[in-house]
Amino acid sequence: MRILLLSDIHANLEALNACLEAAPAHDRIVNLGDVVGYGADPNAVIDSVRSHNGQVVRGNHDKAVSGVMNLEHFNPMAGLAALWTREQLTPENLDWLRELPQGPIHVPDLEQIQFVHGSPMDEDEYLVNTRDSLEPLMTASARISFFGHTHRQGGFTWNGEQTNIICPEYGSPDQLDSWDFPLRKDVRYLINPGSVGQPRDEDWRAAFAVLDSDRQRVEYFRVPYDVKTAQEKILDAGLPPRLATRLTTGR
Ligand code: ZN
Repeated sequence: MRILLLSDIHANLEALNACLEAAPAHDRIVNLGDVVGYGADPNAVIDSVRSHNGQVVRGNHDKAVSGVMNLEHFNPMAGLAALWTREQLTPENLDWLRELPQGPIHVPDLEQIQFVHGSPMDEDEYLVNTRDSLEPLMTASARISFFGHTHRQGGFTWNGEQTNIICPEYGSPDQLDSWDFPLRKDVRYLINPGSVGQPRDEDWRAAFAVLDSDRQRVEYFRVPYDVKTAQEKILDAGLPPRLATRLTTGR
């Protein structure tokens, strides 16, 4: 089975469309949350995600926008964007967002794999470095966990003795590029496909990944997209300008 992994789209329609166009053939889609928040196209992005009929786990922005979680832990910029997004959404899309499941979620026939937004232990926790990753790597019920939330493509491994960082290596900084690696049976993994709509790993290109469970490989992708249009829409909507400018640098 080949699973297209999308995470942290954040209402960036231009980035989502570029990823869907660039994605190789796949059998299903799993979305790791934060479908909306920050970007200017929340309804169009939710409509697209719903039309693809994939599985979606809820992110913290999905919870905040739909009222499942209050805004007290959000910084002012994220809070403003959440309130703006709530006003834009159709009642149907707001209901859809509110009913997204909490992770971990699973795909039939793949018992060793689970999908979460933040961490296997806490949906709102950030796994940024090897210290953060150690406990979830050692205790997660599934050997392989796909996660998002940090907006940084890559991940962590545990071979029974030490943790290592997975860091995709790309040949070009501004073209469609991919990098794949084999999954070993005796290693535990935390894998982040990166953020579609607001990368924060200093690469402006939209990020996603594909899991091939038969071949036991994960392929990471980076895709150029129409950043300028996404930025203009954010500014035209009256959202905080920083939400537009940060897309240029991926930080
Ligand atoms: Zn996010």
